[in-house]
Amino acid sequence: MSFKKLGLRAELVKAVEDLGFKSPTPIQEESIPVLLSGDLDFMGLAQTGSGKTGAFGLPLIQNIDLTLSGLQGIVMCPTRELCLQITNDLKAFAKHLKKVTIVAVYGGASISNQIRQLKKGPQIVVATPGRLLDFINRKVIRLSRISYAVLDEADEMLNMGFQEDIDSILAKMPEDRKVWMFYATMPKGVAQIARNYMTDPVKVKVGKQNRSPKTITHTCYAIQEKYRYQGLKRIIDFTPEIFALVFCRTRKETQAVAENLIQEGYQAEALHGDLSQAQRDYVMRKFRHKTIRILVATDVAARGLDVEDISHVIHYNLPDDSETYTHRSGRTARAGKSGISIALINAREKYRLRKLEKSIKVKFESGKLPDGRDICKKQLFDLVEKIIHTDVNQDRITDYLPDVYNAFSGLDKEELIQRFVSAQFNRFFEYYCHAGDINAKISPETSAPSKKVKRKAGLKQKKTQRFFINVGRLDKINEGAIVRLVCDKSGIGSNKIGDIDLKREFSFFEVEKKAAKKVLKSMNKVKLDGRPVHVQEVFNEKKQGKGELRIS
Ligand code: AMP
Repeated sequence: MSFKKLGLRAELVKAVEDLGFKSPTPIQEESIPVLLSGDLDFMGLAQTGSGKTGAFGLPLIQNIDLTLSGLQGIVMCPTRELCLQITNDLKAFAKHLKKVTIVAVYGGASISNQIRQLKKGPQIVVATPGRLLDFINRKVIRLSRISYAVLDEADEMLNMGFQEDIDSILAKMPEDRKVWMFYATMPKGVAQIARNYMTDPVKVKVGKQNRSPKTITHTCYAIQEKYRYQGLKRIIDFTPEIFALVFCRTRKETQAVAENLIQEGYQAEALHGDLSQAQRDYVMRKFRHKTIRILVATDVAARGLDVEDISHVIHYNLPDDSETYTHRSGRTARAGKSGISIALINAREKYRLRKLEKSIKVKFESGKLPDGRDICKKQLFDLVEKIIHTDVNQDRITDYLPDVYNAFSGLDKEELIQRFVSAQFNRFFEYYCHAGDINAKISPETSAPSKKVKRKAGLKQKKTQRFFINVGRLDKINEGAIVRLVCDKSGIGSNKIGDIDLKREFSFFEVEKKAAKKVLKSMNKVKLDGRPVHVQEVFNEKKQGKGELRIS
């Protein structure tokens, strides 16, 4: 089969010949004739590297009305790298055609430069969804004349949390536009886009469906709540080459975790909504260039983040829903590489993990956090390996060596190694020499008994005091947040906390009677995510026959 026979115009055939393409790839052969017809929606299952760009790019260019200068075709793709690559490919395809203008717009780059480009009146824009929506809202990009919307790597865009943006963009386009969607896996969201925005799409499938999520290993570590931060540190310390994205639930927690890490000498930064765009860009640049190796982020701030080589995604806290978990963990194992997704959970969260496993159909491996000895050994041998493989640049150091040798002359080889290791490792040794086991002992079979039974069992049927607290579901908190707050502030163990009754605007929790005074005292002037918290004892007078609830 030749490109000409597929129905492409001579200029496009010449361009692909210039590129050295001798014959169409299978996806091109199947897609091009269908898409050239111009009046069909299309779903193409094809892998990266299959020639997809030609499959949609060539018919897109041919179908554009070159006598018009307005925007007619939009290609959406997940990352800026892909955006630039597609733009270059389309420009190469269009090189023998006059008056075709193609512009790339993507996040993390100057808006004003892109606005200047858009003022040229391109017929085709290649874009990442977030930046595209931004331009649509600013009315820099108008969708009134759009005939074709291409979604390239649609599954990856959904993985990266672009579902809402894609929905808003497609919903704003004219009714008669055609949607051409390419994907390598078929998550629910892909079918949903087809249902909502396509009419009888032609379906083409080339090669096997990718099962890319398999390249991610999902591990959970059960820790005692008070050791959550220490748990994170152990994971980082045990993985000297780590390049990680750590997800927290709130801006405040994100900031606190990052600050603690920075103070303790880790190459870390925070990424959350309280930062200005310039600060965010700065942090992202540092992460991209690996000047920082640990980025602590909120879900919202990390949306669409496309940094390659992230080795670990760490869920400092489990997200509320499985979709968020998938978006988060999809930041690792990019471009066919493998990655590790780690969830830190406390004893109470085990059943949430089981729910998550069912929902995303993935089995978490149960990991054990390394102890201090393991960590020191790992770090030490990593250093030894680095030293063994260090290139010695004789030219640069020759001048200094006589003095250095002289300074070390009183030490034999063993002493020298010992001092050298100590100089590098005293920080670790000191920190970890008394560090005990912080793994929580949870039976792997722990399931989700009714919350009440579970907590009562924890309290061993002891007498309890009920408390009112002025935060509830509306404050985006869960039971764990209340447990953490009470334990952190009062110093009591989570086993002293009983039922938690989460309401819309407020909640109730029970505490072992003996610890009640301590809790009440410690919860004075406390804040949760910046919001002042009030806690009061509650006496249920109904039981005493008075029929009402009394808050002290
Ligand atoms: P893509 O999947 O579009 O990113 O294409 C993957 C690679 O295959 C790129 O380097 C393209 O230049 C190349 N390619 C695309 N179509 C053809 C073709 N028909 N013949 C040879 N190479 C191609």
